[in-house]
Amino acid sequence: MKDIVFRSLSEHKHSLKAREYSSAELTRVFLERIVQCDHTINAYVSVCPEEAMKEAEASDVRRRNNEELSALDGIPYAVKDNIAVKGMPLSCGSKILNGYISPFDATAVRQLRESGCVLLGKTNLDEFAMGTDTETSAYGRTKNPIDKNRVTGGSSGGSAAAVAAREAVFALGSDTGGSVRQPAAFCGISGLRPTYSAISRYGLVGFSPSLDTVGLLAHTACDCAEIMNLTIGRDSLDATSRSHPSSNLAALIGQGIEKIRVGVVREAMSDELSGDVACAMSKAISALCALGASVDEVSLPHFDTSYAVYYTYTAAEAASSLSRFDGVRYGYRAENCGSVEELFSKSRGEGFGREVKKRILFGNLALLEENRDKIYSRAVAMRKRILLDLRDIFSRYDILLLPTASAHAYRAGSQKSALYGRDDLLCAPASLAGLPALSIPCKVPGGMPVGIQLMGRAFGEELIFSVAHLLQNALELSGGDEK
Ligand code: GLN
Repeated sequence: MKDIVFRSLSEHKHSLKAREYSSAELTRVFLERIVQCDHTINAYVSVCPEEAMKEAEASDVRRRNNEELSALDGIPYAVKDNIAVKGMPLSCGSKILNGYISPFDATAVRQLRESGCVLLGKTNLDEFAMGTDTETSAYGRTKNPIDKNRVTGGSSGGSAAAVAAREAVFALGSDTGGSVRQPAAFCGISGLRPTYSAISRYGLVGFSPSLDTVGLLAHTACDCAEIMNLTIGRDSLDATSRSHPSSNLAALIGQGIEKIRVGVVREAMSDELSGDVACAMSKAISALCALGASVDEVSLPHFDTSYAVYYTYTAAEAASSLSRFDGVRYGYRAENCGSVEELFSKSRGEGFGREVKKRILFGNLALLEENRDKIYSRAVAMRKRILLDLRDIFSRYDILLLPTASAHAYRAGSQKSALYGRDDLLCAPASLAGLPALSIPCKVPGGMPVGIQLMGRAFGEELIFSVAHLLQNALELSGGDEK
């Protein structure tokens, strides 16, 4: 039984169906794995063993009674701790939410619950999802399961590490500007940022609501398609959500890609890429050509500005989103305050970490009336340009290919933090344009894995999954395991 944690999601599906093991047995093995491994990795900030066992036993009863089951009934998973789960702490990796327990489920969690998936616990993240390595979390950093001296990436580093370390079969994360794709690349797994609005954001704590998405982390593109099938749909609790035109996102998996036009983003292929990343990109290009796709270089003219636009936008929106944390309504409250103003400022001053404060300050600065035209309005105009550039490119290409990060995971504390760096630049265009992008892992013999990103048209996940699946098979691009 010990080795079942190393099986794939589809193997678990088949084994549960064949009654080789029950969901309760599977869940128990994952809970034991968390106890064994997580004190060295720190992927989880809270675990719910009793509730998980109850959910697993309920799944086994459904199966024994031959009830209709969803594709992932009985499969254990984890949720990033900026997504609400009823009755569980919701920390967002911040001291300011200390002691806060969510009274409701996020829609994506509710959908997975209704599909019979088994929640194991909540995972670590950079504070309010601002960061690239979980080092801004109030709960300490998560370690990369492949090399614990290295970072996991972030902000969904806890979710990525939980999946890579086989402490969950899959996980939910959130991606505003790469927070699912970059940790997936650093931990050797797959990570999907869906089309903006395809998965309801209800219950995802807002960082930058016009860019935030609930994202998926799993070992393969196929796994991501299966999970996404359960989490899409228009939700009356999120006015921005839309129904997905595809009812089965795995439908194209296994089909050929002879007619597919792939564009490789020229500006993303700079000299700053590490040798491993450049090599992974050229292997991917050769594999796509061998599979019959046509591959060309394409220029994304305003690529370099996307990074400044991303930071201006997200800081401005964060300044507004985070204004609700004031010491009155949620979590942490400063003591001995003489006035309401003092209560607000002391609670926020003591509760928020440095990175969050920096962004709130910059966001408010960008929104000041005297700066609005100079900073915020220019970012709005540039975002439109980037959107139009991408719309034009996608009239000629079906998929864009670019690296997920410029190198593999860096050493913790090495000052090589990618915060405000090239890695954000590689992920920002899809985020600003609301387009779906999937990072798939590329194993590097004897080294750390790197990630390759496939970006598609809005609601074009079906095609992304099918191209990524063939690419993963062709290159034997599979997750970085640590037994
Ligand atoms: N590195 C990005 C940032 O710090 C990623 C954020 C995200 O996607 N949540 O803003």
